[in-house]
Amino acid sequence: MRIGIVGLGMGGATLACLLADDGHDVTVVEQAEDPSPVGAGIWLQALGQQVLERLDLLQPLRAASRTVERVEIVTADGRSLVDLGYDALPGSTAALGVHRGDLFALLLQQVRRRGVPLRLGVPVTGVRPTVGGMTIETADGDLATYDLVVGCDGSRSRVRWSMGVTVRDRAYDYGALWAIVDDPAETATDTLFQCLGGTSTYLGVLPTGCGRTSLFWSVRQRDMAATLAAGLPAWRQSAAAYAGPHADLLDRVEVLLPATYRDVVVRTPYRLGAVLVGDSAHAMSPQLGTGTSLALADAWTLAHTLRTERDLESALAAYARHRAAHLRWYQWTTRMMMPVFQSDLAPLAWPRDALAPLVTRLPGVPGLLVGTLCGDRTTPWTTWRLPG
Ligand SMILES: Cc1cc2nc3c(=O)[nH]c(=O)nc-3n(C[C@H](O)[C@H](O)[C@H](O)COP(=O)(O)OP(=O)(O)OC[C@H]3O[C@@H](n4cnc5c(N)ncnc54)[C@H](O)[C@@H]3O)c2cc1C
Repeated sequence: MRIGIVGLGMGGATLACLLADDGHDVTVVEQAEDPSPVGAGIWLQALGQQVLERLDLLQPLRAASRTVERVEIVTADGRSLVDLGYDALPGSTAALGVHRGDLFALLLQQVRRRGVPLRLGVPVTGVRPTVGGMTIETADGDLATYDLVVGCDGSRSRVRWSMGVTVRDRAYDYGALWAIVDDPAETATDTLFQCLGGTSTYLGVLPTGCGRTSLFWSVRQRDMAATLAAGLPAWRQSAAAYAGPHADLLDRVEVLLPATYRDVVVRTPYRLGAVLVGDSAHAMSPQLGTGTSLALADAWTLAHTLRTERDLESALAAYARHRAAHLRWYQWTTRMMMPVFQSDLAPLAWPRDALAPLVTRLPGVPGLLVGTLCGDRTTPWTTWRLPG
């Protein structure tokens, strides 16, 4: 088939490789003129690692990453809320702390190696069905027509918008400022560290290997500009109380960059001739560090159903069916977590701080939590597998 992929991010680049390998005539359309390896550190769970392994990319990624074996959540006044090792679930695979740019560079290299045509610097405004397929629209007119257009254009997807399938598209009040700092001694070791102050403030420290560490600072979207304008010294002063053993890293921050989150739900991720993959279909808050893994799982599943179903309509319906329960679990869980981690609902901090240390030690609970982190749950007790 002639397939147009809109968006060269995590999902789009992965899908381009998979579809090109299956012999489709694939073109990627991306708004950035020069897609470059930028972005914060990401916590890449076992599910995403499985997809990368099938593309033979896990080994090189591991070499540039850090294994994250533990999650430690404390409060600014020194209480331990969660101390969870991936070994709480026998047989589970620990996460990787990955520089987003390193993962993107690997994927981009594979897309280029397969000779997939890239149309860069083209912001897509929508899609519409026309004679001969689905046409990609831009502000300068129609771009091209394909048998299938895949919207991999992230949380603010124009493809989704033009398909008319959105049920919920809400910007969260809170987002994060992030930085990548040099950490040659790798003081952040193998642990994702989070220090919370009430429900509105936290500092996250994620080791990403090769002597680098990512920092995340929770902030209301409407306060981001003011926090940045106040300058790094003022921010360091606020963050110092949350840095615990990582205080030295604050001094190495040279620039803070803003990131926002959305909560997106679609009625169905496809219409005949157009389908959504990744954040375009199910953007969520990054509390569980599963967004990239879910985008990669979508890409894998779509390539699989296009390969195995008898026609395009059945393939898109099978894709939606395969992904539904899995995505529902992660959308629901992240939505439930947001108020206790990043919100103005300050009274929730007290029950959270009182209950978290007890609940997370109850028999069976650490295993359930690690299972959810690994990225393959459809409920606490049932799992999802990559098809094929
Ligand atoms: C602060 C923060 C921390 C995160 N941490 C983690 C984490 O630890 N672990 C994890 O797994 N996930 C994390 N995520 C989520 C993760 O980044 C996303 O889920 C993942 O990138 C989704 O991939 P995607 O391909 O759907 O979208 P993206 O990677 O966002 O790619 C979308 C692409 O589409 C392009 N595009 C957009 N609009 C258009 C248009 N109109 N025309 C053409 N091109 C367009 C964009 O330029 C981009 O290249 C985090 C997100 C945030 C904001």
